[in-house]
Amino acid sequence: MDQLIQTKQLTFTYPNAHIPVLQDVNLTVDRGQFVVIAGATGSGKTTLLNHFKKELLPNGQRSGDVLIQQRSIDNFSKLSSAKTVGYVGQDPTVQPIMTTVIAELAFSLENVGVKSDEIERRVAELANYLGLDQLLHHEIHDLSGGQLQLVNLASVLILRPEILLFDEPTAQLDPLSTQHFFDVLQRLHQELGMTIVMVEHNLETALSLADTMLLLQNHRITFQGAPAVGISKMMNDPKLTAFIPEVPRLFLENRLQVKQLPISVAEGQTAI
Ligand code: ADP
Repeated sequence: MDQLIQTKQLTFTYPNAHIPVLQDVNLTVDRGQFVVIAGATGSGKTTLLNHFKKELLPNGQRSGDVLIQQRSIDNFSKLSSAKTVGYVGQDPTVQPIMTTVIAELAFSLENVGVKSDEIERRVAELANYLGLDQLLHHEIHDLSGGQLQLVNLASVLILRPEILLFDEPTAQLDPLSTQHFFDVLQRLHQELGMTIVMVEHNLETALSLADTMLLLQNHRITFQGAPAVGISKMMNDPKLTAFIPEVPRLFLENRLQVKQLPISVAEGQTAI
């Protein structure tokens, strides 16, 4: 198996906090997996995701190992990090720095030293794949939130990263843009075999897109496996159902039959 992300006994404590927000977290993400990190608000989902890209590593006390492509996260340069791990966060307005879409996409490649004819080719190719051709010469500040989030994704994808990280990428989008964004993610996963790790509170998304769900509870991973199985585990835990109101409805609608994949449970952890 081609392991792209591994944590070994990862424990992390924020400065001035009394207890670790992550405790002995062991996980593996293989090439081509689509992983959703689920858990109640404050359970450490964002903190965990931020351990997979060097620039996002939080300040605090860390022990254990974080390996990206079997290399310690601490040994990544800015350049190798940009080329290996792409990240799109919640706020569509945070990322862009240039004034037009085409300049924004080109800027990503200029930053890593790609030559101008190659830049032109890659921008055109990606804009075509994502259906952004018509927007290339638009001003960034004229774009809707949904369009902007696609541009953010494009400016990350253009570097051809091995891993894509998303932290609630549709939290500020309307339902139509949300659906479109998730459709794009599904294509990236299915057509290009991209490896995706996403923090997402919407479990319907996890069910419809991901092949693996990680459940964070009490600072630890309590489940890693098929989303339908993970959600049924949550259903049996009153503390979690209270936080995640859509779970009972999913059961009532029988949506949990949507995707029943073989369960793969991380070493030393129980599925249910
Ligand atoms: P989630 O993404 O599951 O909502 P977070 O990873 O954002 O959880 O936060 C987990 C816990 O760590 C929360 O109790 C939060 O208050 C705390 N926390 C998050 N960021 C910081 C920070 N920069 N400094 C101190 N505590 C933090």
